Amino acid sequence: MKSKLFTPGPTKVPGAVLNAVGKQVLHHRSPEFSEKVRHVQDELGRLLSTHNDTLLFTCSGTGMMEAAVANLLSRGDKAMCLVNGVFGQRWADICTAYGVEAVCHSIEWGKSVDPSDLDRALDRHPDAKVVFATHSETSTGALNDVKALGAIAGKHDVVMAVDATSSVGVHELRMDEWGIDVIIAGTQKALMTPPGLAFVALNGRAWSLVSDSDLPTFYFDFTKTWKRLQKKGQTPFTTAVSLVYGLEVALAMMEEEGWENVYARHAAMGAATRAAVSALGFRVLPEHPADGLTVAVCPEGIDGNKIVRVVDDEFGVRFAGGQEKLSGRVFRIGHMGGIRERDLAMAVSALERALVSMGHDIEIGKGLTALEEVLLKRTVAA
Ligand SMILES: *Cc1c(COP(=O)(O)O)cnc(C)c1O
Repeated sequence: MKSKLFTPGPTKVPGAVLNAVGKQVLHHRSPEFSEKVRHVQDELGRLLSTHNDTLLFTCSGTGMMEAAVANLLSRGDKAMCLVNGVFGQRWADICTAYGVEAVCHSIEWGKSVDPSDLDRALDRHPDAKVVFATHSETSTGALNDVKALGAIAGKHDVVMAVDATSSVGVHELRMDEWGIDVIIAGTQKALMTPPGLAFVALNGRAWSLVSDSDLPTFYFDFTKTWKRLQKKGQTPFTTAVSLVYGLEVALAMMEEEGWENVYARHAAMGAATRAAVSALGFRVLPEHPADGLTVAVCPEGIDGNKIVRVVDDEFGVRFAGGQEKLSGRVFRIGHMGGIRERDLAMAVSALERALVSMGHDIEIGKGLTALEEVLLKRTVAA
């Protein structure tokens, strides 16, 4: 039996996307394929509310983070990394690997970055060239206010780069209005595409850093990629052609649902799942939760990894465990992209039954009731 994915990436891929991915391969230099690439670029621009070009790459989200560091900065440069979990730390680790000095503004995991702290940190480090932030910190479920953070970066005239891998398609992003200079994301989360495709969008301010950068790039060279896309609608090297078909269909599905409805659906799924785990006695870790996943803290004596194992082995539902220092202490339920409200009952029911199977004394149905109460409010309101 295949487990149903309730993971914060990769996520369940809708049938229509799978069908598209299964089509015969077009040549990546053919005009038909270029048309698809341009269409996907346009659609991604609409999704990010930006006039900037988006560049597609065949890699996972981390590849795109690395590419952003390598293209924007120079050896010995200073970058401010906002760290409230695994993915914020990853920005810092990549900087270090490239000989860029990472100044970390590190806060407790589960908290969100306070924009006024960024303001003060940039006062102390006026020579930082880029601020690296994470919109939805997938290790803790915390949402960072990238609009407010972007305004602070703008005030200090620092380039703001945002990892939106687990937020794009969950939360609204208005790149141009919010003064965000760079957005990177992988497409295997709320964008409902099998893993292997990622993109970056950059504005003029970011491009001027790219032209000054002296760090080595080859495959991930933004300038080379932009020129080829601009001129021919092609990537310099072989594109993951089938994934582009999939992404095109996934984006069309979202457009048809309506971006606003997509965001409202995720907000409802977030609120309902948080209510369900709370009713079952778990604390929700993040103070300001993102809506694409729920990160639940296990009370003393309950092992989060064991919940993940039992839910999968016995009920065919796949959650994710905690990462690094949160391993065993939390479990994570992904509800983004292809997950619909009706799917959540399966996840919560599996959680309840797993807890009973593990010998925990819970009131069966309490999580489901809380879930349904939140979802019903939305149905009635609509
Ligand atoms: C999933 C994710 C990534 C990318 O991880 P990959 O395994 O490289 O795809 C990056 N940032 C965030 C916030 C993520 O959730």
